[in-house]
Amino acid sequence: MAKVIFVTGGVVSSLGKGLTSASIGLLLEGHGYSVQHQKLDPYLNVDPGTMSPFQHGEVYVTEDGAETDLDLGHYERFTEGAVLTKDSNYTTGKIYASIIQKERRGDYLGRTVQVIPHVTDEIKQAIRRGMGDADVLICELGGTVGDIEGLAFLEAIRQFLLDEGPDGGMLCHLTFIPYLRTSDEVKTKPSQHSVMKLREIGLQPDVLICRTEKALAEEVKSKLSLFCNVPVPNVVEERDVPTSIYELPQMLAEQGLDNLILDRLGLPRTELKLDRYHDLLDRIRNPKDQVEIALVGKYIELGDAYKSVDEALYHGGFHHEANVRIRRINSEHVTPDSVEKLLGGVDGVVVPGGFGKRGIEGKIETVRWARENGIPFLGLCLGMQCATIEFARNVMGWKDANSTEFDPDTEHPVIDLMPDQEGLEKGGTMRLGAYRCALRADTLSRNAYGDEMVSERHRHRYEYNNKFRDELSDAGLIVGGINPERDLVEIVELKDHPYFVAVQFHPEFKSKPTRPHPLFRELVAASLARKSSITPSEAETA
Ligand code: GLN
Repeated sequence: MAKVIFVTGGVVSSLGKGLTSASIGLLLEGHGYSVQHQKLDPYLNVDPGTMSPFQHGEVYVTEDGAETDLDLGHYERFTEGAVLTKDSNYTTGKIYASIIQKERRGDYLGRTVQVIPHVTDEIKQAIRRGMGDADVLICELGGTVGDIEGLAFLEAIRQFLLDEGPDGGMLCHLTFIPYLRTSDEVKTKPSQHSVMKLREIGLQPDVLICRTEKALAEEVKSKLSLFCNVPVPNVVEERDVPTSIYELPQMLAEQGLDNLILDRLGLPRTELKLDRYHDLLDRIRNPKDQVEIALVGKYIELGDAYKSVDEALYHGGFHHEANVRIRRINSEHVTPDSVEKLLGGVDGVVVPGGFGKRGIEGKIETVRWARENGIPFLGLCLGMQCATIEFARNVMGWKDANSTEFDPDTEHPVIDLMPDQEGLEKGGTMRLGAYRCALRADTLSRNAYGDEMVSERHRHRYEYNNKFRDELSDAGLIVGGINPERDLVEIVELKDHPYFVAVQFHPEFKSKPTRPHPLFRELVAASLARKSSITPSEAETA
């Protein structure tokens, strides 16, 4: 059975528990151990699928179609072998939904159903399900220690560690060490209090990972050690990384966090092999070129809403040793009058996924601009639907062409529900998770993937309408890939364009820094090519 590393957070939220957990995963894999990741989220929604990106950031989709917390994206990007599933993310809502179902079925045999032991048992079972067959499970608890919502999870973790015995599991507590400019000192009191909160419930951290702007002096470490009851060597400093989040694992390894963990769990200290990762860091730190790519969506104000898309773009850049700058544009601001001003000078364009009508016309206008100006373009999910609508309107001349999501009465529903989805409740009609896609010969996609059959993750309700397939492809919006099981169009492309690929799925979820997704890799390649084909004076006036 897997040994479990629990990761909690104290003092403030947004400390980077997800990245820290993912970094631990990367380091343990570097030691030759197999890892699995899990996130426990104390909020009451059953999953983040129904939450607005403004609330929660991106919804990350797993192979098996679970709509999960965006931290799972970090886990998958940092590790090679962790396979995340619906068992990799549990919320309070999901735990209670299961308990209430059991209670209604009579499974509790007349007993009173209580937080201890029933909720905590359910959480412990969830943790065990999340282990898969890995050597180590890294289980992150969302929120901050001291939150009322997190209590049942902390209690379950305490029981779990008791059940498993001394080296069956451990606790890493990530905390914040504020720096006070006026007195020029760092403060340990908030961390002391958050560890007190943990100890109140019977949890003693084994390792304290300290987020800090300033290096921690030995006396600060000693103080933390004394008050938090953690040996000095187990007080690990986590400074802000200078260039990229992918520098974090190395920073933690330099302080020996990996060996601390192995020793504590009774796992042999094997050699740490990180060749691929070091090669990656070299690329990240020494870019030879730069491109600017526009990301035109409606949740632009929120940094985390397109997390995987951002990362996939950066990964594409790593491959070409190019720094990718993202120009974030709110699609609601894009109109025929403003498009040139907002987008002019970019080397490539991405229109990402989304739901609902707001900002749609700006996305369609963006597609037109990229199509007519030969700007490398990648459309993702809703971005593919917008590309299809744009082509239908402006090339076919079907002025009212639309998705029935936005105009149910259009005469040209080029994006529509499938007949078997009509009348079903909204919740049950999403295409979620991995589906196969057969690529057509002589397409940009086929060349990018270098493969005939691929599998990609989905999260959408509406589909390309096959009724219009012949007309649209005869006119130049060719079909690049088809789901063979249901004959659904997965990819459209333009023939006479340097790079115009739009996909019904979400390739961004499968991109890793060491293995950039082919469609993003080729978008960056085309953007670099376009940039170098423009003379400097043209570029300046653009
Ligand atoms: N709103 C569109 C649909 O439901 C696209 C969804 C998305 O981009 N993820 O089909």
